[in-house]
Amino acid sequence: MISPQIHGYKVRKSRKRITKYVRYRFRGCVITPTPYDYCIIGAGIIGLTIAYELTKKQPKARLIIIDKEPSAAQHQTGRNSGVIHAGVYYTPGSLKATLCRKGVPAIINFCTKHQVAYEQCGKLIVAVDADEATRLDGLYTRAIENQIQVKKIDSTEMAKIEPNINGVSAILSPTTGIVDYAGICHKLVELLTAKGVIFQFSTTVINLHESPDEAVIETNQGTIKAAQLIVCAGLQADRLADMMGMADDFRIVPFRGEYFRLAEKHNTIVNHLIYPVPKPGLPFLGVHLTKMVGGYTTVGPNAVLSLGREDYQRSFFEPVDTWRTISYPGFWKLMNRFKLAGLSELKRSLSKSAYMKEVHRYCTTISVDDLEPYRTGIRAMAVDPKGNMIDDFLIKKTARSLHVCNAPSPAATSSFAIADHLFEKGYL
Ligand SMILES: Cc1cc2nc3c(=O)[nH]c(=O)nc-3n(C[C@H](O)[C@H](O)[C@H](O)COP(=O)(O)OP(=O)(O)OC[C@H]3O[C@@H](n4cnc5c(N)ncnc54)[C@H](O)[C@@H]3O)c2cc1C
Repeated sequence: MISPQIHGYKVRKSRKRITKYVRYRFRGCVITPTPYDYCIIGAGIIGLTIAYELTKKQPKARLIIIDKEPSAAQHQTGRNSGVIHAGVYYTPGSLKATLCRKGVPAIINFCTKHQVAYEQCGKLIVAVDADEATRLDGLYTRAIENQIQVKKIDSTEMAKIEPNINGVSAILSPTTGIVDYAGICHKLVELLTAKGVIFQFSTTVINLHESPDEAVIETNQGTIKAAQLIVCAGLQADRLADMMGMADDFRIVPFRGEYFRLAEKHNTIVNHLIYPVPKPGLPFLGVHLTKMVGGYTTVGPNAVLSLGREDYQRSFFEPVDTWRTISYPGFWKLMNRFKLAGLSELKRSLSKSAYMKEVHRYCTTISVDDLEPYRTGIRAMAVDPKGNMIDDFLIKKTARSLHVCNAPSPAATSSFAIADHLFEKGYL
């Protein structure tokens, strides 16, 4: 029989041996006590491209992606214009300007490698009067500053390349293209699943917090823990940032973008995408004619304040979202500044002929009868407490989390470049 003292001594000795062995065996390894190294919230194009970049940079990382919808790209990413923007409009030096320019070849490389349909059909920005022609000159200068390939076109040349479009002058951006962003996302889900990334759809995040060791994600399906959290929640970005006390300086205000599909006889009405000259001070590009990769043409989107963030049917009954918007002082300051533009947009939303007038400024070949129903998109626009729309991409970080707080257009174009930027700048 072994005495208790000797037994205790042996146990302590073997514990010491085990500890020594574990230290030796796992020397140099970071032992993560949490089940996942990374958790990404949001299976839109931003969340998925970050995941794609992560699996390239850290192939052994344990990664879970969660989304409240049953599949990827159900919100902004699957409801946009499908344009690969060249980067003409953006403030030189801004993240938008830099990452859009870098994003174009990245998107095209991905589509070529993985057989996702795209086309670099080019785009014309058309001025219809002298005032717009002057502003168009300003855009031309900006495009050059942004190192974007552009060409000035006069009305004679415009008539040759776009017989159905009228204007006094235009800028041709030959590198602008079209793609199906939802198609890119479905391909990314396929590739990431093959690499062992876990997808948990139909899972809504209801609370977030972090400790020095991990991020804790509470969902309607239980709690998930990860060493690092990456939030790419688009229209809900401020709500998720708020859960971690990080949304004091912005709130998402939703703007509907209503489209129509043109009657089939107009599938080839244009050879390029046709955009108006944007109205001064407004962040939206104006109602445009867009060739789609499916072979048809759409017209839109307008930009109307939306009461619900995901209210695509315009039910007008979204009390929680509505309260969140109208209880924000920055919203009223924004409305005050843009009340006339807002009322004109509302008029165009309620009347097809008012909508059509906007298109007739540069294309008189189509009529109200050619407008067929098409999906609506809702843009997430971050607004600061003073009522300024936050123009550039906005990224925030805590020790255990990274939040993509503002990723408006051209974020889909820039998505692969945004993901790359996060690594380059040491955010991840
Ligand atoms: C009308 C319109 C036209 C546009 N046109 C273009 C264009 O032509 N070219 C271009 O480059 N960009 C365009 N954009 C912008 C582009 O679509 C967006 O910048 C981009 O899709 C943003 O992607 P995202 O992943 O951040 O957001 P989203 O695609 O909105 O994805 C966010 C995801 O987060 C999930 N989520 C949110 N909250 C939760 C929660 N609590 N729990 C779990 N999941 C949650 C959502 O379900 C969603 O899947 C357009 C946008 C709109 C709306």
